[in-house]
Amino acid sequence: MRILKMDSKYLKEFLESLRMFGKLYGPIWKRDVLTHDHVENVDDLVLDGEHTLIPVKKLFHPKRFNTMRFNEEGFTPNYSMFEKRVLIGAHPCDIHSLLRLDEVFLTDPADPYYKGLRENTAIIGFSCLPTENSLCRSTGTDIVESGFDLFFVDLEDIYLVWVGSSLGHDMILEKEEFFDENVTHADIQKYIQWREMRNDMFKKSFNFRDMPDIMELSYNSEIWDYFAEKCLSCGSCTMVCPTCNCYTLTDVFDVTNKTEGRRERVWDSCMFVDYSLVAGPHNFRGKRADRLKLWYTHKLKAFGGEYGRPACIGCGRCVDTCPVDINVLTIAEAFTSCEVPAK
Ligand code: SF4
Ligand code: SF4
Repeated sequence: MRILKMDSKYLKEFLESLRMFGKLYGPIWKRDVLTHDHVENVDDLVLDGEHTLIPVKKLFHPKRFNTMRFNEEGFTPNYSMFEKRVLIGAHPCDIHSLLRLDEVFLTDPADPYYKGLRENTAIIGFSCLPTENSLCRSTGTDIVESGFDLFFVDLEDIYLVWVGSSLGHDMILEKEEFFDENVTHADIQKYIQWREMRNDMFKKSFNFRDMPDIMELSYNSEIWDYFAEKCLSCGSCTMVCPTCNCYTLTDVFDVTNKTEGRRERVWDSCMFVDYSLVAGPHNFRGKRADRLKLWYTHKLKAFGGEYGRPACIGCGRCVDTCPVDINVLTIAEAFTSCEVPAK
């Protein structure tokens, strides 16, 4: 893989030049919330490593959208959201989360909506620093080797720039004069020191490697009941988790013509009580303990069994978000120590 360097003074102009490859998206402040959205002014981009609450999945697996229009004759898929986009500021864990979602949505038969959004979006990654609850060093997702077109590591006066695709190469060619092939020993030293400094900043960790076995062995543990008593079934953990991808479909009929309408797709959560409700009525996971067990065994074990890598990418959002302190850290700690946490 080609690695170049760029003087930091060129960053803004380079990012501006990316508009020729698509509409710019990235983390910006909107009504006091940091969110991934359309970027009108590159000065608005937040590239200092702060994390958004809602992960980057929302740009590829939208929270709510119309999948099609239908009538008695048939249906017309809605692909109007496809446009050329350049996503700037994806962190390593964001890129890992997209690679996990690819496994789900691009495995044959591919989801046409996710596929269209993904194929039309260039990924410009940026390095970040750990937050209070970052766990990506435990999950091995603090660095990324693929899944981006360009990846920038911020070394203050310079950026080291990894070129990950032919599209990334074309982006560089447009502003070739900004980039230097000559990465010196001093630059490499600076990069190594930055990596060490970053590694030292992680405050929390968990035993990720052993979690698949621990989850398997603990399937019938009464510790699940302890967490179930606390869980509010609010679904916040699933909404903020970058690899959660469940959705539900609803047919919405036109008010004026009841034979026509649209099919909406909306994020769903396996933590909701009616998620597994089927005709009968039967509910396969009517108990909170069963829903928690499903989520954590899927996140930390089952997804890995199917796709080769566990679904948790260590972003720490479940730690930030759960109002009653149920998250990968408290779950890992309880099941590793085999002790019900003290109340
Ligand atoms: S389980 Fe928690 S830490 Fe892991 S990816 Fe999901 S929200 Fe992030
Ligand atoms: S584990 Fe926490 S965030 Fe998730 S549904 Fe239960 S209370 Fe809500």
